[in-house]
Amino acid sequence: MDFKFTEEQVQFREEVKEFVTTEKEKGIFPFGNNCWMHLSSMEFSKEVAKNGLIGIAWPKEHGGRGMGYVDRVIMLEEMFRAGAPVAYHFMADRQVAPGIIHFGSDFLKKEFLPKIRNAEVCFCLLFSEPDAGSDLANCRTTAVEEGDYYIVNGQKVWTSNGHIADYGWALVKTNLDPAVSRYNAFSEMVIDMKSPGVTVRPLINSAGAHSFNEVYFDNVKVPKEYLVGTKDNGFRQIMTNLDFERAGIERLMQNSLTLDSLKDYVKTNDKGGKPLSQDPLIRDSIAKLEIEFEVGKLFIYYVASLLDKGKIPSYEAAMGKTFCTLYEAKLADVATTLMGLPGLLMPGSPEAPCNGMACEDYLWSPSYTLQGGVVEVLKNIVAQRGLKLGRKKK
Ligand SMILES: Cc1cc2nc3c(=O)[nH]c(=O)nc-3n(C[C@H](O)[C@H](O)[C@H](O)COP(=O)(O)OP(=O)(O)OC[C@H]3O[C@@H](n4cnc5c(N)ncnc54)[C@H](O)[C@@H]3O)c2cc1C
Repeated sequence: MDFKFTEEQVQFREEVKEFVTTEKEKGIFPFGNNCWMHLSSMEFSKEVAKNGLIGIAWPKEHGGRGMGYVDRVIMLEEMFRAGAPVAYHFMADRQVAPGIIHFGSDFLKKEFLPKIRNAEVCFCLLFSEPDAGSDLANCRTTAVEEGDYYIVNGQKVWTSNGHIADYGWALVKTNLDPAVSRYNAFSEMVIDMKSPGVTVRPLINSAGAHSFNEVYFDNVKVPKEYLVGTKDNGFRQIMTNLDFERAGIERLMQNSLTLDSLKDYVKTNDKGGKPLSQDPLIRDSIAKLEIEFEVGKLFIYYVASLLDKGKIPSYEAAMGKTFCTLYEAKLADVATTLMGLPGLLMPGSPEAPCNGMACEDYLWSPSYTLQGGVVEVLKNIVAQRGLKLGRKKK
């Protein structure tokens, strides 16, 4: 067992740090927490692309750098530590491109990989529906073959960045025979979000941010070349994809700026004349956060190291995501509690400690344990696949 990074990795981290620091100092891009969910700038993403930091883990023959998933985590750790506005390219780099490389046709590879690599397109994920979240096989959006096209009808919901996306990566029902198992009824396809019949409506989250949307499809024509992988095999494909989705450091570091400011806040503030840093309960809380942050990082790097060994992390990714998202919610809770009433002030308020980040994170935090798989489902995965306790009976 060796927890050390290689010399190349140490150097790569420094490269990324330098890039992010330079971009942040320019003062033109919106750095902040929850940056992968709603801080989007095509211009920033183009800078990331120019520096060869999109597609680093894709194979070289597909335009990537052929680096590893551990390298990718190193890069993202530094991006998230600074709160870099990565939302424009994030989903495509993390999930869409690996899906296309794994399952897509030569046409899709040629059409989309260079555009993703150069931050020319933004993708959203069109999976969840009003009656299909954890139970994704309950999706009802249909895609029916008609000549050279599929005709798509239905509704998706909670679509992060649907309002800025050029394309959506969708799960649709292509086999409408009720006798067919629902796990053999779906396909994955790319949908042009500018197609006639696509309507995107904003959903404002509890923190007041426009991050996700509902998306309606009314007789939307999708060329057959946009089908990804094998028709009716989409459910299996998407499950592999979700393991990629769950494995990332974004689950641990989406509020990284708050953790750092909280430590500064404790060092520089007092209560009733007594420094906060001398309060035993506060010391205890901050120390626990620090310990759990380091444990979370070990989970994430372990999952990345499995991917580098060619393994698909399933219960390991579920364990990591459960631990890290619960940690993120706890961070927001501890930060608001520790700051008292002023901790409930939002960004923009002159009296808000740490720029109001604690309160804003607290309002975002219920979403952390939902998106990408709810905690209860993830624990079931750990019980079933990790501990071999068998399937949960209904
Ligand atoms: C911020 C945010 C961004 C999102 N972005 C996207 C996106 O870009 N694209 C997209 O397609 N979707 C997105 N989603 C949707 C997300 O994937 C779903 O919210 C998630 O899969 C849960 O589905 P649901 O909301 O329907 O909740 P449900 O599945 O209805 O679950 C609600 C609750 O029911 C309980 N529960 C459900 N199933 C079980 C079970 N099997 N065992 C025990 N308890 C259970 C749990 O307590 C759970 O918290 C996003 C969600 C959030 C919060």
